[in-house]
Amino acid sequence: MEDRFGHRISYLRVSVTDRCNERCQYCMPQEEQEWLSRDDVLSYEEMLRVIRVGAGMGISKVRVTGGEPLTRRNVLWFFDELNKVEGIKDIGISTNGTLLGKRTHEGITTAQALKNAGVRTVNVSLDTLDPKEYAETTGRDLFHEAVAGIDAARGAGFEKIKINSVLMRHRNEHELWDLIEFARDRDLLLRFIELMPVSTTQVLTEENFLPSGEAKKLIEFRLGKLKPRPDIRTNGPATYYEVPETGQIIGFIGAMTNLHFCETCNKLRLTCEGKLRPCLGSHLEFDMREILRNPDMTDADVATFFKHVVDRKPEMHEFRDNYRPGRKMIAIGG
Ligand code: SAM
Ligand code: SF4
Repeated sequence: MEDRFGHRISYLRVSVTDRCNERCQYCMPQEEQEWLSRDDVLSYEEMLRVIRVGAGMGISKVRVTGGEPLTRRNVLWFFDELNKVEGIKDIGISTNGTLLGKRTHEGITTAQALKNAGVRTVNVSLDTLDPKEYAETTGRDLFHEAVAGIDAARGAGFEKIKINSVLMRHRNEHELWDLIEFARDRDLLLRFIELMPVSTTQVLTEENFLPSGEAKKLIEFRLGKLKPRPDIRTNGPATYYEVPETGQIIGFIGAMTNLHFCETCNKLRLTCEGKLRPCLGSHLEFDMREILRNPDMTDADVATFFKHVVDRKPEMHEFRDNYRPGRKMIAIGG
């Protein structure tokens, strides 16, 4: 599938739930959330049907996200089934990590169960190494669980474990080196993410926003000039650099300041209530649930719908100009 701007679509991010066991300030700041009703959320079977049709049209990578995907019941079953879908060669999960160390009824860690179910890459969000700061940023005192989850993932032997840290000026700007060291010691690929106005604009203030260019300078001040590594690419918009002396690779995801951010975009997003979104930073979304729940609609209709959405994929996101957050990132599948 290719859109009007030459973006080749091969990657689907699937949000399996809008719910979460944390309350990150930049994502779900309110303690009380208005959760979607169970009927509004797609069943696993409905999600698998979308993925099957997508796989027939060139989707080869799926990342499961949320909300916190590991809070949805029977999610391990979903991963097992996802792994059976023909054409899906790469399965990943984005998680806050707090439940990765939890034992399943078979007595293995959830991380191990995910690995056994065919998950290749795990992205864990960790913005700080200070338990108090962690509790303030995420609204929950779960720092040790998150780190235990990262260790469980390491023990499970995934191909790649990435750590995503959202840059926030007064929260983790003084910890960037510590995060780099934490990642190096554990052989994790660290990426710093610029704050985006995804679910709330309030958090995106001059006070909070730390541009990735400035973070890079702060890092260079202590660790020396970072060497660009354009040869390293993951399946997304991160740009990578090598830390002198240690050779460690770190990445930056600068949706707000990198003007080339959208050029290589290969993604679509399926929200947990069945909206197909061609771009995270645009209001465009198309309701697939109606089609999925209409007994007269066939897989061919679902495929036509995919094409329709790809045809409407914008050239670039609107975060920098007229974007007003209307929907939470959790529902969109950040
Ligand atoms: N709960 C999982 C987690 O935290 O990784 C998966 C869902 S979360 C919405 C996916 C990613 O989006 C996380 O890395 C999180 O830090 C990031 N995120 C959420 N809100 C953001 C924002 N306003 N700006 C930048 N990144 C954000
Ligand atoms: Fe939950 Fe992830 Fe959002 Fe934090 S970023 S509130 S962990 S969904």
